[in-house]
Amino acid sequence: MWTRDTLHALLSERLQEFRLIAVCNREPYIHRHTPEGIRFAEPASGVVRALDPVMQATGGTWIAHGSGTADRETADEGGRLRVPPGKERYLLRRLWLSKEEEEGYYYGFSNETLWPLCHIAHQRPAFEEAHWNRYAAVNARFADAVVEEAGGDRALVFIQDYHFALLSKLVKERMPRAVVCQFWHIPWPNPEAFRICPWKSELLEGLLGNDLLSFHIQHHCNNFLETVDRELECRIDRENFEVMARGNHTLIRPHPISVDFEAIDREAGTPETSRRMEDLRRRWGLDGLRVALGVDRLDYTKGIPERLRAVDRFLYRHPEFVGRFVLLQVGVPSRTHIRAYRQLQDEVESLVERVNWNHRTATWEPVVFVPEQKDRSELLAYYRLADVCLVTSLHDGMNLVAKEFVASRCDRAGVLILSRFTGAAREFAQAILVNPYAVDATADAIHAALTMPAEEQASRMDRLRETVREQNVYKWVGKLLLQAARLEPTWVESPTR
Ligand code: UDP
Repeated sequence: MWTRDTLHALLSERLQEFRLIAVCNREPYIHRHTPEGIRFAEPASGVVRALDPVMQATGGTWIAHGSGTADRETADEGGRLRVPPGKERYLLRRLWLSKEEEEGYYYGFSNETLWPLCHIAHQRPAFEEAHWNRYAAVNARFADAVVEEAGGDRALVFIQDYHFALLSKLVKERMPRAVVCQFWHIPWPNPEAFRICPWKSELLEGLLGNDLLSFHIQHHCNNFLETVDRELECRIDRENFEVMARGNHTLIRPHPISVDFEAIDREAGTPETSRRMEDLRRRWGLDGLRVALGVDRLDYTKGIPERLRAVDRFLYRHPEFVGRFVLLQVGVPSRTHIRAYRQLQDEVESLVERVNWNHRTATWEPVVFVPEQKDRSELLAYYRLADVCLVTSLHDGMNLVAKEFVASRCDRAGVLILSRFTGAAREFAQAILVNPYAVDATADAIHAALTMPAEEQASRMDRLRETVREQNVYKWVGKLLLQAARLEPTWVESPTR
């Protein structure tokens, strides 16, 4: 069983010759000016929530965009500080981006191009030359920071996500002996979907600077290999899932991300969580109601409108639940700078209004919309009080909310309704799996979940919890980094093709 301590022991032994550098756009601790003075917050991001306990266990340096209003005041001149604040287990190196860089690299190419391109959730990707140029320039700035922080060639560089498709190659050009691995947290699409991108070759060549490139599930690895096969001149070893391009070998492997099961399980069972549950019941008037819960960033890939339509349909089909059921939807505003996200926010708000109008009584409404970010302790109370957790993503690399819900249910109760189009669905056969586009079937699933006998809930939940306990976040990162550390870098400085 992988734990924080075994990971720490194993990596200290096996990685001792390396300096561990993690690169992730988002920082784990953001400092902001507030009326009460400077305060820090932890962003609602699956990647950050997964990586932070790992960095706490392993030490090293995390390089990220410093995006908080008080980030400069809380770091030294080089943008460095030790985190978590008060615990100081690893180094955070903040990189300052100009407005133009943030616009082109983050909002533009990362989130208006790569995000919709890879999720295929019916949002057309934007292809702007200016965004692409900024994306490439910011990747080069992060490469500078990696070289500075590594202080030599024996580094193990662990790159997070689609913000850095060009980074591994840029690092390898300057540190050929470094071991570089990357985790791509979003899906990889099929070759037909990917080929519309005007910079497809540059992206693929950039990613093939890695010694190890990892996705959540085998299906995404297969898609990546097919894409490379169609688009680049290279050799593919299908036995070993390896690509050889320009003299460099890149291993392609699935490593499903997860959560810190033990920590969630422990905190979810405390009297403090029970107290928070009581507070929430009072605050939202939940007494006598069966509770379905949604927790998402407000993102068009999460299937929130589809979920609201399913709730509407469920109440029409099962009027006996009118006045006895509520959907509690936590929706964290996200990327509001981008029009598609503002439109989604409007759509969700008007659908909530409509569903409430369709079914409300003098004293009750079926949907409570909570458009705020919650911290982890409060989220655990939400998870614990739910009869049903609804995850209806149209496409999702993994979906950590599903895993957190399961990890928090130390009472062995509650039912998970889970979209088949999440990475999590591959591990969670005991959830009620749905196609979120099929509104009637999702409505039926809500009914099945609310009427499921307690013994069946417990036996399904036991199996789900066993999966997360065993396949936890420490195993994810431990297996990935150990696999990377065993690789011999093959980068050829002047490639002959
Ligand atoms: N989250 C949070 N506060 C909120 C809503 C979500 O901290 O109010 C966290 C949640 O606990 C989870 C992450 O944000 O760890 C969302 O991860 P997921 O993989 O489900 O989706 P993503 O937002 O990364 O696409």
